[in-house]
Amino acid sequence: MNRLFYQPHQAGLSKVEAAADTLRFINPDVIIESYNMNITKVENFPLFMEKIRTGNKNNSGHVDLVLSCVDNFGARMTINTACNELDQTWMESGVSENAVSGHIQLIVPGKTACFACAPPLILASNIDESTLKREGVCAASLPTTMGIVAGFLVQNTLKYLLKFGRISNYIGYNALDDHFLILTLKPNEDCDDSYCRKRQLEHQLHPVVIEENVPTINTEVVHESNEWGNYIL
Ligand SMILES: [Zn+2]
Repeated sequence: MNRLFYQPHQAGLSKVEAAADTLRFINPDVIIESYNMNITKVENFPLFMEKIRTGNKNNSGHVDLVLSCVDNFGARMTINTACNELDQTWMESGVSENAVSGHIQLIVPGKTACFACAPPLILASNIDESTLKREGVCAASLPTTMGIVAGFLVQNTLKYLLKFGRISNYIGYNALDDHFLILTLKPNEDCDDSYCRKRQLEHQLHPVVIEENVPTINTEVVHESNEWGNYIL
């Protein structure tokens, strides 16, 4: 989703520095910390875990939520591994390589499917992702699809943090048909991630409850006529 973010005058900055600058410009009241590192490298994993474990407002406990906006399976699996181990709720997001579909997914360790519970083919077959790159082929990119998927991610985040509405476990978006798929994905008891299986057992003993606030819609007819006109359906 990062291609929406950059401007020509930021040429030469790292992606994280430029993104942090843009975010500070949009809202100077938000404290932004940037780390320019590859989270899939073993040497960077401890710092990544540490920031999830202690990165709340007072640097005293877990962050409220992790949002994943990465573009490869390796990075998603790294986030998945960290969040399962730390029992950290997170949201995954992605746009397909042909740029006309995307998804967001809420992952609550032990309660909903983790990223390894229902692995894509590439993971199930243990293929090295880097071998799948096609020489000279650049993945398509549509800012509209990215903007729509990013909007869903932010909307679900606001509902989760501010406790309103129903929080979606999974939303899929197909731009060619304007089709939206909403699912709940249960965790796989045979998941390869041992911490996922551990969290599932914990969840059975002490279910994780996500606070939702869905008001009932009043369908009572208040008045039959409307001086501003009537709809004809
Ligand atoms: Zn799992």
